[in-house]
Amino acid sequence: MNYGYNNWRSGGSRSRRRRRQRMIKTIILSLIVALIIAGSAVFLFTLKRMGERAKDRETATESASDTLAPESAPEDTASGVLREGFITRKFTEKDLHRGELILVRADVPYVFPEETDLTDLYTGRKKYEDGSRAYQISSTDIELDSFVLSKLNELTEVFYETTGERGLLVKSAYRSYESQKEIFDYRVERDGEEEALKYVAKPGESEHHTAMAFDMSVYKDGVNTYIQDEEDYLWVYENAHKYGFILRYPENKADITGISYEAWHFRYVGVPHAYYMYTEGLVLEEYLELLSEKHAYDGIHLNIDCDDGNKYEIYYVPASDDGSADIILPAGYEYTVSGNNTDGFIVTVLLS
Ligand SMILES: [Zn+2]
Repeated sequence: MNYGYNNWRSGGSRSRRRRRQRMIKTIILSLIVALIIAGSAVFLFTLKRMGERAKDRETATESASDTLAPESAPEDTASGVLREGFITRKFTEKDLHRGELILVRADVPYVFPEETDLTDLYTGRKKYEDGSRAYQISSTDIELDSFVLSKLNELTEVFYETTGERGLLVKSAYRSYESQKEIFDYRVERDGEEEALKYVAKPGESEHHTAMAFDMSVYKDGVNTYIQDEEDYLWVYENAHKYGFILRYPENKADITGISYEAWHFRYVGVPHAYYMYTEGLVLEEYLELLSEKHAYDGIHLNIDCDDGNKYEIYYVPASDDGSADIILPAGYEYTVSGNNTDGFIVTVLLS
């Protein structure tokens, strides 16, 4: 470079100067072309980004149509999650009769859905390498709600792996209206209606319709016996809540549930609710009453610290006369909304 510089400054031949001028022109032209290309690229990129943003806005508008944010923040909530951002979703009368916390009993019949997501226990159970199963079933056509079955499998697998006992037997789970009618008619014929009603619900009034309840028994050495909260099987009663199950009809609560003690009937209600009911000694009726009376949306929400380390915030939202409700939900949190099958909804927020 030193060489060229010196030659140019010292006035070399004309042709050499022209060559240099051409070279400079070429460099300048190249620079201009490069600038044009770079400018176009930036322009195109900006256009693309604008297009994407417009698309995002469209999506936001779409989801906003069913999430009508109220004009002002829900200042009156006593709890934290809703202060950080919220959405409002409409729940209908149909939703009032769905969810893990619905109450089903003689005075609150089940509202049958058009479809239920059922899985049969025969194919839905885990098969261990040695061919064994964590629990037995009394027939191949027993079905449960698919998610509830996954929780039953978890419970029974841990039980089996902890105790080595494989005698648990699921006798009955989901029942259609017709199958409940058969069972009820049989018991009435055998024991009389008054005696039958102590243990068997009328068709349409059984928790078994929900596909979230099942009856457990013990099958050992070829003998089928009632399950009791003793010996190895005590584990089931002490741990069922960790998987979202409650013993639905305890001994000392028959006056509230309306059903005599059933050591065999378990019901899925969800982990935080089962944990709270178990530790506080509440049945579903008492728990739902507590939520609607003490933990409404605009009151003090119920905070539950489960023994698995998860924290939940729970609140009740009453339904209007037509069974629907506009429910305020925290944005950015996992939550479930369950009807109670009577007069309102329970929101369960997973905090951490
Ligand atoms: Zn039962």
